Amino acid sequence: MIVLKKEVYKTTYLSPRNSFELTDVYAEKRYDPLTGHRVRVYEIEWYTKPVDFYTLGEKSQRRCPFCDGKLELYGARFDTKFCKEGYLKKGEVILIPNILPYAENAAVSILTKEHVVPMGKMSKDTICDSINLIFDYAKRVSKFHKKKYRFAHLHWNYMPTSGGSIIHPHMQVYVTDEPLNYHRRVLEKAEAFKKKHKREFFKAYLDYEEKLGERIIEVTENCALLSPFASRGMLGEFLIIMKNAFSYIDITENDIESIASLIHNLMLFFESRLIPGFNLAFYASPIDKKIMRAHIRIYPRVYRDTETFATDVETPTLLYGESFSLISPEKNAKNIKDFLKNKIKTNT
Ligand SMILES: [Zn+2]
Repeated sequence: MIVLKKEVYKTTYLSPRNSFELTDVYAEKRYDPLTGHRVRVYEIEWYTKPVDFYTLGEKSQRRCPFCDGKLELYGARFDTKFCKEGYLKKGEVILIPNILPYAENAAVSILTKEHVVPMGKMSKDTICDSINLIFDYAKRVSKFHKKKYRFAHLHWNYMPTSGGSIIHPHMQVYVTDEPLNYHRRVLEKAEAFKKKHKREFFKAYLDYEEKLGERIIEVTENCALLSPFASRGMLGEFLIIMKNAFSYIDITENDIESIASLIHNLMLFFESRLIPGFNLAFYASPIDKKIMRAHIRIYPRVYRDTETFATDVETPTLLYGESFSLISPEKNAKNIKDFLKNKIKTNT
């Protein structure tokens, strides 16, 4: 039912790393078991270099609309009929309309009072409050418009390497009736899988990965974190599969606590590897449908070269959709598991 297909290929050249001898260099093509998306894996030791986001942050702070005092002046506000205060709040997190019209309901949650929160310094509670507030907003906006929006596209561009233009930590959401492009493809494939195999794909995939054990990182009561077989990022990709929730309205507070804890652990690992940013996206079935289990993908983002600010997304990835990974998902999973084991040891 679940097929993890991979092919080894080689290229041959006179290698400067091998005294210009004729050398075979091997790599893998892997295929995503749901979408068929192909990724290429070529393992090399890769070390990112640190980027001083505090200094960059200082430079950008005077233009930041999310900093204390500025938010009141420059932040958009909700119609007072929707909420009296013009914004929603949970803990320290504030949610306001997105000033850019990405969707009919587009909002942004400002996570912290601090302008710069480097990797590993964000609290688990802050992540939890923000996700809670975003799904609360999606439900409230549905009620306000007297309709049930089918999707809440929660996503996060963390730090400038992710493409996020404002360094001040913030998540975003579009509450819509339609899936976004890649999400639509995943839903179509998941629907076809269910029809063919009479099983929901992500549960079947998680069961299969649990049996193999090579790419599973952490399993909690509500969800599981793994390094997927065909990871797309230059430094891999991470997948959180919800065990019970299918759409955003199914997500419980306990689910969100588990998600926040897994993201928090990942952020600590990224800090240890000098990975400064990531992209994160939530995918789910439309409400009242059980096409696929809700899941989250996290894609670490680095500068490929910190001196020239070269990013890790190039033409093959962006325009051909051909991903290239410098670390195998198995190694990624092992590295994180080792890191988390050591973290527990040093904490006890
Ligand atoms: Zn700020």
